[in-house]
Amino acid sequence: MNLNTITEVKRPSAAEDIAAWRDGYAWLAGGTWLFSEPQVATDTLIDLESLQWPALQASRDGLEIAATCPVVELDRFGAPPEWPAAALFRACCRSFLASFKIWTAATVGGNICVALPAGPMISLTVALEGTYTLWPRGAAPRTVRAADFVTGDHASVLRRGELLRSIRLPASALAKRAAFRRASLTHLGRSAALLIGTATPGAADLLITVTAATVRPVQIHFERPPSAGELRRRIVDEIPDEDYFDDVHGSPAYRRHLTHHYAEQIRAELAGAAR
Ligand SMILES: Cc1cc2nc3c(=O)[nH]c(=O)nc-3n(C[C@H](O)[C@H](O)[C@H](O)COP(=O)(O)OP(=O)(O)OC[C@H]3O[C@@H](n4cnc5c(N)ncnc54)[C@H](O)[C@@H]3O)c2cc1C
Repeated sequence: MNLNTITEVKRPSAAEDIAAWRDGYAWLAGGTWLFSEPQVATDTLIDLESLQWPALQASRDGLEIAATCPVVELDRFGAPPEWPAAALFRACCRSFLASFKIWTAATVGGNICVALPAGPMISLTVALEGTYTLWPRGAAPRTVRAADFVTGDHASVLRRGELLRSIRLPASALAKRAAFRRASLTHLGRSAALLIGTATPGAADLLITVTAATVRPVQIHFERPPSAGELRRRIVDEIPDEDYFDDVHGSPAYRRHLTHHYAEQIRAELAGAAR
């Protein structure tokens, strides 16, 4: 839609060019969310594309993803064979509602900053133990764990004017075995539940990440492979009923059912692969 309150679009060559923040400013990434609903309080868009950050930088330590990296570029990333968990990139990039329509424009950082329960870039980066670098206006950069960034439906720790600069995925997480499960009520619909399990090769640990079913990501860690009963008990203990999300894409009861169902499938899959 047209945003008829916008009077200026800034195209800075460096983030520091926007030294002072004022009401009415908004960072513009792919624009797929910004242009999908009225932004009556916004009069100035600050286009992040002009910053020209390199999208993906792989090293022995892991992968650095610029917040401005288009989702389609992450989808096409050719990961080295020692990063089997990178198979999750493709699975998560294809987990948007109407994926093919938005993924060429939408960015990884834009999806994270919208902070919806069904944000697949949130699911991915939390499951792969990512950290986010945040650039506040007029203060030193800070780092937060991906798992701590989203605090609720459409709510995060991002402060006024703060910029998500990049996402770092450690090589240790990319080297893990991974299992992915997702449900949506409609073909190419929004996720009702998206669960990811990861396990260190040659070790007995299991990390289950629950997203979309819950208002914010929930991670459950096991030092040793849990039994089906242990897994069930931990999910009940760590996800109170009121934390299951409720919208047209699924009732809390349905999402709770999917969470238990998929977590058990993941437990069985990763335990089976370890034998
Ligand atoms: C058809 C359709 C389907 C969609 N399906 C889904 C879905 O399944 N799941 C889902 O989660 N969302 C979905 N969305 C919502 C949205 O399009 C996506 O979340 C998308 O990833 C947003 O990315 P963007 O780059 O377009 O962000 P933009 O729209 O440019 O920005 C989104 C918000 O984040 C802020 N922002 C962007 N980048 C940064 C940054 N680096 N630092 C700080 N703030 C920043 C912007 O100011 C704005 O408030 C959908 C939207 C449409 C139109």
